[in-house]
Amino acid sequence: MFKPTIGLEVHAELNTETKMFCSCRNEPDPSKPNLNTCPVCMGHPGTLPTINKEAVKKVIKTGMALGCSIPVHSKFDRKNYFYPDLPKGYQISQYDEPLCENGLLEVKIPIDSEQGQVPYLKTVRVRRVHLEEDTGRLLHPDGEDYSLVDFNRAGVPLMELVTEPDIRSAVEARRFAEELQLILRYLNVSFADMEKGQMRVEANISLSELKNGKLPENEKGMGTKVEVKNLNSFKAVERAIDYEIKRQAEALEKGEKLIQETRGWDEVKGKTYSQREKEGAKDYRYFPEPDLPPMDHSEKFLNEIKATVPELPAQKRQRLVAEYGLGEFEAETFVQNKDLSNYFEKTVSELSQWVDETNGTAKVSPEEFLKLSKLSANYLLTDIQGLLNGESIARPEFLITPENFAELMCLIYQGKISSKIAKTVLEEMYDTGADPSNVIESKGLSQISDQSEIEDIIKKVIAENPKPVEDYKQGKEASFQFLVGKIMAASRGKANPEMTRQALKEALK
Ligand code: ADP
Ligand code: MG
Ligand code: ZN
Repeated sequence: MFKPTIGLEVHAELNTETKMFCSCRNEPDPSKPNLNTCPVCMGHPGTLPTINKEAVKKVIKTGMALGCSIPVHSKFDRKNYFYPDLPKGYQISQYDEPLCENGLLEVKIPIDSEQGQVPYLKTVRVRRVHLEEDTGRLLHPDGEDYSLVDFNRAGVPLMELVTEPDIRSAVEARRFAEELQLILRYLNVSFADMEKGQMRVEANISLSELKNGKLPENEKGMGTKVEVKNLNSFKAVERAIDYEIKRQAEALEKGEKLIQETRGWDEVKGKTYSQREKEGAKDYRYFPEPDLPPMDHSEKFLNEIKATVPELPAQKRQRLVAEYGLGEFEAETFVQNKDLSNYFEKTVSELSQWVDETNGTAKVSPEEFLKLSKLSANYLLTDIQGLLNGESIARPEFLITPENFAELMCLIYQGKISSKIAKTVLEEMYDTGADPSNVIESKGLSQISDQSEIEDIIKKVIAENPKPVEDYKQGKEASFQFLVGKIMAASRGKANPEMTRQALKEALK
């Protein structure tokens, strides 16, 4: 019986203005190759690097968000290797004194066939987060016998996060990567788009034999690990790990020995393939970077960074549920969509004020507040999302202000318009940005709350539908609803539903 052990190494390009060690623009993909380059990032001899403080801040901020300890002292090291995209012959990285150490990330795993059919929380320890520089990019023109090098990406600040081997399945790995991406975006440290290579995941995978039903206690007792590279989507992370677990299990069952190697992922074939045998740290001849001073962070510097750590996804999930009574699913949709949740929170704050003014009460009661919040959340997640059809609510073409939206919610909440009318009003608001009371007035949509007017409509409907009337009198309840529907239709949705039901009951006595 084999059990998978997985550790992830995640690289993220930081979204700083300039590169890591020079003042070139940090724009890895401009229209022209080699546009953002200088002697420093092209590795010319005799040039001197300087540390980009913003990049250091962003890595420490990330470490803080993950509960890492931030050693006061840190330094850069040279990692020596040769490759054409690295003209210096070494990458400036961090070896034994990273900026951040020993953090945690807790992720919710949906169902996982390995672990059973219930969602569970998984804690993955973060071993370290450090800062290094990205390399250039090699281009291989089709059918040519040469390669080209683009140095726009060379020297872009790159953060590397390494987890402990705590992950047990492909689903857990995928969820870890997804939650990390969300956090990087909340922190505004990286755009973290995997398709663009702004976030890159490498997975280390091994299988261990259970001894007395237990996993080995340390890495020494674990099986030979294989590192899989070029995973440029969450789906690829999951598929490649699943594939690799199966491949290793089959090999071990046949009595084969696995070798420690680096493998690539072939998206089309859905297979991993051997790239090279893994090099160890000793092959890189790490030594302290002599051209950069070591860093000693002041308390003030660290406190300033701490103050910039915003509310994180996990906190937001809890708060949205606690503060607005949202369900887990609704809360998650808002957590994943910052613009939509900003709009939601603005609406709710408007709403409570608006009800105040109209009914003259000092304050919205807590129950009312929860009802208003839920109502707004429902309209945002269904009707507004539907109208937006995938576009962002924050784009300028979206004309409904939170104030106007809040007013509409109020009209619905106070029963001044039906949900059917509300849809019509909302569509008009979406097209023109008009405020709801204007739309209602100009389109003659205001609810009929005049008793005699409703009674007139009821008389007509009763006269036109003798059969359902008779059925109702014989005890068929469904006919009552049918007649209500007819009255609503005759009033084009404008009859006050409560008054209609009352008046119809009277009329049928
Ligand atoms: P290397 O020096 O080969 O890069 P590290 O010790 O730095 O190895 O670990 C790299 C990643 O591999 C980490 O995420 C770690 O958790 C993971 N890892 C280490 N040992 C194993 C193992 N036996 N199986 C799976 N992952 C492992
Ligand atoms: Mg490593
Ligand atoms: Zn440069």
